[in-house]
Amino acid sequence: MSDDNDISQKTLAVHGGEPRTYPYDALVAPITQTATYSFADTAELIAYFEGRKEREEYGRYGNPSVRLVEEKLAALERTEDAVAFASGMAAITSTILALVKSGSHVILFADCYRRTRQFVTTFLDRFGVSNTLVPPANVEALKAAIRPETRLVIAEAPTNPYQTIPDLEQVAEICRGKRVKTLIDSTFATPVNFRPASYGIDIVVHSATKYLAGHNDVLGGVVAGKAGIVSLVRDLRSVFGACLDPHAAYLVHRGIKTLALRVEQQNVSAQALAERLEQHPRVRKVWYPGLTSHPNHETAKRLMTGFGGVVTFEVDADLHGTSRFVDACRIPRIAPSLGGVESLIEQPALMSYFELSTEEREAIGIRNNLVRYAVGIEDTAELVADLVSALDSTA
Ligand SMILES: *Cc1c(COP(=O)(O)O)cnc(C)c1O
Repeated sequence: MSDDNDISQKTLAVHGGEPRTYPYDALVAPITQTATYSFADTAELIAYFEGRKEREEYGRYGNPSVRLVEEKLAALERTEDAVAFASGMAAITSTILALVKSGSHVILFADCYRRTRQFVTTFLDRFGVSNTLVPPANVEALKAAIRPETRLVIAEAPTNPYQTIPDLEQVAEICRGKRVKTLIDSTFATPVNFRPASYGIDIVVHSATKYLAGHNDVLGGVVAGKAGIVSLVRDLRSVFGACLDPHAAYLVHRGIKTLALRVEQQNVSAQALAERLEQHPRVRKVWYPGLTSHPNHETAKRLMTGFGGVVTFEVDADLHGTSRFVDACRIPRIAPSLGGVESLIEQPALMSYFELSTEEREAIGIRNNLVRYAVGIEDTAELVADLVSALDSTA
């Protein structure tokens, strides 16, 4: 089904990558809860190792429940293959390690996911892989940073928390023919809002923990791309061992079935929240790619079919005044993460950047009054009313 470009994301989310039947005529995929697989006899074992028989061998190398997640993701991203991991970070670090070696150079946008940046700038650096951080969404700076030894460009769209969207079509164009692979962390966009492979991006990575699984109850990660690259990454998974557990795979697979419905609802609610926030006298600034005021609105409109479920804004208050507003919201829960059915709210200064001083935060553009709101699937009007009432009551 992954070859069929005509089928909608909604239908693929439900049926993509699935066989028509399962054992015992079950409608729903079973959880294959096993660590290893048995061979009928030595002849079968030899046939397997000689490549004459395709089957599973051992849990670290593959599992049918995990395979279903991979097939569904490949269908949704319209890529040849995909491989699943125990977490988004396991997927990202394994992919990067599959593509670089000592002496390679990696370029990443400075507003990439914090742990990805940490991995590249501190960990990889120790193994002789150099890096250049380029300013958010600045494709010209990226072009200028490419060297003969550059092997990989890492991008994200939209990014956290300001939701910048580099022109990934241009990024793909620049890297093509230069032996530079492009990797995009598409966690915030999901294959419902954006399909990077259709713009020539080589590798698409997701933290399945967020929108794909969608219920804030499981960690996972997925890498999608051409069969050759995915195979390299899969080989590393067999070595590193960061496999998705079969039961977790079941939860991710089940979650993806409602992905399109959830994301469409989240797009609608986030747009409504962003528009209402932009009108509110207690809000200084709003960042949402669906607003014409967002610097990358035009790029988002051209590349994406939806603007996502995260709204970032600055309240007209200090650190504590902002916390009072956050505490006054009755529907969203205070938690890191995003993309699940529950709306989540956080003040980045007190969450991801807690250990930094106000001055250090200012230097990287995280102000004390910044709030990130990741909408869930609650009623749009109720989410808006709750937010407005929290702003009004803590003025
Ligand atoms: C959460 C997240 C990750 C890390 O994923 P885990 O599943 O938590 O390991 C990577 N990138 C982005 C954009 C994320 O939001």
